[in-house]
Amino acid sequence: MPRWPATLRARLTLWYTIVLGVPLVAFALLDYFVIATALRDGTERFIGEALTAFTRELGAERRVHGDPIATIATTVAEVRFQDLRIEVRDGAGNVIAVSERTSAPPDWRVVERTIDVDGGNYLLIGAYPRRDEEAVLERMRTVVLLSVPIMLAFAATGGYFLAKRGLQPVSAMADRAAEISASTLNERLPVAGGQELTGLARVVNALLDRLEDSFAQQRRFMADASHELRTPTAIVRTEAEVTLARAPREEPEYRASMEVVQDAAHRLTRIVDDLFLLARADAGQLEMHITGLYFEEVVHDATRAVAHLAAARGVTVVLHQLVQAPMQGDADLLGRVLLNLLDNAIKFSPAGGTVDVAMSGGLPDRDTAVVTVEDHGPGIPPDSHARIFERFYRVDGSEPVPAEQAHSGAGLGLSIARRIAELHGGQLELRRSEPGRTVFAVTLPVEATTSD
Ligand code: ADP
Repeated sequence: MPRWPATLRARLTLWYTIVLGVPLVAFALLDYFVIATALRDGTERFIGEALTAFTRELGAERRVHGDPIATIATTVAEVRFQDLRIEVRDGAGNVIAVSERTSAPPDWRVVERTIDVDGGNYLLIGAYPRRDEEAVLERMRTVVLLSVPIMLAFAATGGYFLAKRGLQPVSAMADRAAEISASTLNERLPVAGGQELTGLARVVNALLDRLEDSFAQQRRFMADASHELRTPTAIVRTEAEVTLARAPREEPEYRASMEVVQDAAHRLTRIVDDLFLLARADAGQLEMHITGLYFEEVVHDATRAVAHLAAARGVTVVLHQLVQAPMQGDADLLGRVLLNLLDNAIKFSPAGGTVDVAMSGGLPDRDTAVVTVEDHGPGIPPDSHARIFERFYRVDGSEPVPAEQAHSGAGLGLSIARRIAELHGGQLELRRSEPGRTVFAVTLPVEATTSD
């Protein structure tokens, strides 16, 4: 069994009641004792004044009688105060005179005084019943015992409703949050209640904003991906259907057909591989084989690797300058960055043109190395500069190769290259692009010590 109420509302109510109840009870007790003391003081003062009056009367009486005992007895018999009982005892404690001997009330407030009558010491005792004090205190106890529980009940009820009201926005938020699902991600929590609650609602709403954005991005990505995959898949299917429809055929015809299928399959493989890489990178699951490497070697090797492709299109790739760039990284992935940039540069170069590759920075002076890839093609229109790194983005009609061919990209090359550079703590940017000159730059951090 829980020792503490489970609902926040009940806890707040309990706290509220305790916080109000403790001072209330303390105040009531204090009041009670102050009044009890005041009543006692009042009675004692009254008895004291009566005894003083009695003593004065005794002095007057003494002049009439000679005998102290007779004086005392007469005075006691003559001086009467309402409800006050006066008793006089001699030095040995014997009662000499008493004002009344009624059936005594149980409880007395008593004041004693020693008096001197004709050289003899006597004890003068004034007693007043406590029932008057008791009656007042009794009334007060009744009032306190009735009013404190009533006030506490009010406090608890008030606390309960305040807590309920204060927490109402939380319930509303919870209800709304429970209704929100992937398909209703555009809904938001109500922003209401005190500053803390509106703050909470805003934080959750901002989270929903981000979720909605990333869902939208995922949906776009899925749509783009299926769109890209549709063309080569359709080519494979149509080619197979057409070839099978008019059998039998000569071998060259089959070959031609198979080549078309092979091209489409290549393209499919490329797109699927690229998507896989991006998906793994997004999920933070891209396996990187990090080793110590020399980035200048990666640049050199990539330039060599595209030499044939470039020559086939009448383009020359010129490697101008290498710098020392030892670093930790995945050589294959970094190679892909270069290959993607070179591939684009060669693709967009005019026949007979050159692609210039150069490095700068690096050791011993700099802690980053930069490699630039420059071509002299048509350039990228300014309004596309910001978008070419987006997934599946292609500048309309810019590709010199028909979209369905194996060499044509799916618009993933630059986003992959940038992603890899970032995974290595570096960056990829478009330095400039205008007709006749386009420069991409990769910047990577270098490290003095490399362990192979
Ligand atoms: P793809 O994989 O299709 O080549 P990229 O992401 O590499 O896609 O490039 C995106 C788009 O950027 C290309 O479709 C092209 O329009 C443009 N682009 C990239 N590099 C160049 C370049 N060197 N010159 C002109 N346009 C380029």
